[in-house]
Amino acid sequence: MTNETFDYIIIGSGSSGSIVAFRLQEFFPNKKILLIESGSSDNKLTVTIPAGYGYLFYNDKVNWKYKTDKIDGLNGRQDYWPKGKILGGSSSINAMVYIRGQQNDYNNWKINNWSWKDVLPYFLKIENHYLGKSKYHNTEGYINISNIADEAHILTHKFIESCVNQGFKKNNDFNGESQEGAGLFQLNTNNGKRSSVSKEYLRKIKNKNFKILKKCHVSKIIIKDNIAIGIEYIRKSKKFIANANNEIILSAGSISSPQILQLSGIGDFDHLKKFNLDKNMHLASVGKNLQDHPNIALHYKSKIKSLNDDLRPLHNKIIFFLRWFFNKKGPLTLSINQAGAFIKSDKQISDPDLQIYFLPLTATSSGKVGNLSVSPDPFSGFTIAPSLCRPQSRGFVKINSANPIDYPSINPNYYDLEEDLNLMVKAYKISKKISETIPLRDFIDTKIGPHKNVDNDDEIKEFIKNYSKTTYHPVGTCSMGKDERDSVVDSDLKVHGIKNLRVADASIMPKIISGNTNSACMMIGEKCADLIRGRS
Ligand SMILES: Cc1cc2nc3c(=O)[nH]c(=O)nc-3n(C[C@H](O)[C@H](O)[C@H](O)COP(=O)(O)OP(=O)(O)OC[C@H]3O[C@@H](n4cnc5c(N)ncnc54)[C@H](O)[C@@H]3O)c2cc1C
Repeated sequence: MTNETFDYIIIGSGSSGSIVAFRLQEFFPNKKILLIESGSSDNKLTVTIPAGYGYLFYNDKVNWKYKTDKIDGLNGRQDYWPKGKILGGSSSINAMVYIRGQQNDYNNWKINNWSWKDVLPYFLKIENHYLGKSKYHNTEGYINISNIADEAHILTHKFIESCVNQGFKKNNDFNGESQEGAGLFQLNTNNGKRSSVSKEYLRKIKNKNFKILKKCHVSKIIIKDNIAIGIEYIRKSKKFIANANNEIILSAGSISSPQILQLSGIGDFDHLKKFNLDKNMHLASVGKNLQDHPNIALHYKSKIKSLNDDLRPLHNKIIFFLRWFFNKKGPLTLSINQAGAFIKSDKQISDPDLQIYFLPLTATSSGKVGNLSVSPDPFSGFTIAPSLCRPQSRGFVKINSANPIDYPSINPNYYDLEEDLNLMVKAYKISKKISETIPLRDFIDTKIGPHKNVDNDDEIKEFIKNYSKTTYHPVGTCSMGKDERDSVVDSDLKVHGIKNLRVADASIMPKIISGNTNSACMMIGEKCADLIRGRS
């Protein structure tokens, strides 16, 4: 084993970790900083081209490709969970929809210094927004936020009109004063290219004291007398050690961060004792509190051409690639998710509890759900996919062995609580109504897939259990809180009972936010860096 010593070590170059690393080298230019990442470079066209998303979805060169345990609420099905294993983490493979969540998401965390007013400055710090500078937006950040109005598919606009005709408001900015309503998604793209944390933050680093190690898998954090003093990692099957003088920041995401803590002897001792691991700190909540947004897809054949027709035939792929290459225009500049709606299932509640996605394409015959831009269906079609904003069911991530290469056991327990299933039934019915409303109604040829035979509530529930899947937003497995009995980190993101160790990524969210999680993870990265320099 060789030893190298740094002042700060950041584990994982994802949405949060890359920003923590960038800011620390900026705040402390003379400190030695290491960012260590399991995956490899993001220098790939499929990462740069937004519609390359489909090529990354099942690609094990850039993707952890997790599989959950059998989930009771999905009638015993396992779910496929992609996650970025690449520089930039999931921000390099995600669908680029930019949503901050609702103001009350942060207020309801009820954590000192993490209310909406506390986190807004960090959201502003991230963005270079096409709407210009305002109370809600900024133009000086590194992550570009684009308007897709000119490129969005005609069916996308019809979906929004149908939502409005159903009585929902039009919302031109889901990241403004209120999230409620229907509108176009804003995207993390920059002049037709993906705007990820690695491209927008890491590539700007010139500091000689900053080092990135790729293809290095952290196997554990070394703890001595309840102080984190270094990490052990594996490179090409050999073990290495890196020491940390000041702090270690664990940003390996909601699956790997609790796994690494458990492998380091931090977790529920009742579980850890099965694996003959060191026992450093009994924190029963490590890996618990897993939350995610389940969604259910309703597919339709359309009477007019959709993205299926743009992206499936080889000659179109070539034409659109050339258009992207020379002009950075056309359908390859967009995400497959183009519009959505945040809706209240009941008029009496204060904030939307449902998010509906609109995709002007279908991929029902590819055999691989989600592999959309590679194999859209050989007919025209679109998808409406409702999801729950704040599901109440909770799952877990637990190690299965002491081998750091083995995947942990993952179970989100979707629909464990009946209220989540009942809410999804409402979401299904609202989505169906939207599809039956003009103008979208007039563009539908037929319903396709299993929902065409669904009618009463029992059938809807079975359909939901048989076909729901992840929206790729796992959070909460190292959750923030005051009490070490039911949380993992404190409001400074410090692991309870261990010195010099913080967690900063999606796993620290006590409750899932209402919407796509990338933006909140970037905010967590910015805030963590300020906490470390004592400014937040
Ligand atoms: C397919 C997909 C689509 C999505 N679409 C959207 C979207 O449109 N909009 C949105 O807002 N959100 C989206 N998300 C979610 C969003 O991207 C994530 O919530 C966010 O990126 C998570 O950030 P993170 O910092 O917690 O972890 P990640 O970004 O996942 O980063 C963790 C990093 O740690 C590395 N790592 C893990 N284990 C180790 C180890 N042992 N040693 C070293 N390194 C390690 C990983 O390789 C990875 O690079 C999507 C996610 C996926 C997977």
